[in-house]
Amino acid sequence: MPDATNICCVKCNSILDKATFQGLEVDLCPKCGGLWLDRGEIARAAKLPEKELAHLRNLLTGQPGPPPIPTESIAPCPVCPGSLAEVMLGAVHVDYCGKCQGIFLDRGELEAAVDAVRARDRNTTPEEIVIAISTVG
Ligand SMILES: [Zn+2]
Ligand SMILES: [Zn+2]
Repeated sequence: MPDATNICCVKCNSILDKATFQGLEVDLCPKCGGLWLDRGEIARAAKLPEKELAHLRNLLTGQPGPPPIPTESIAPCPVCPGSLAEVMLGAVHVDYCGKCQGIFLDRGELEAAVDAVRARDRNTTPEEIVIAISTVG
């Protein structure tokens, strides 16, 4: 069962908490407020009602203190043997795994990422979105 696998935060190595929003299960960091989204989950998050998104944002506050420093070097993917690379998603840099197509968002990046996905064709499939974001910039 997949729930037995703990995912560690890309930025601060804390064990991520799970939260479910209308059937969309996401992994979020209680310490730094980062968010891990598996393949296609950013597209599903963009379709959540505003109330659910606001609830999710409220969970992404992390502990007081400065937000994590953006990753300059390549970090290993928390869920597969791949590595993360920075890609532009709208106005934000996100850490993207080309192997499993997961995305890590730092605290405060969710809103811009969701806006970027919403700005695209609403019928765009998750696969098309990850292809698009991996080629932007
Ligand atoms: Zn963290
Ligand atoms: Zn991966």
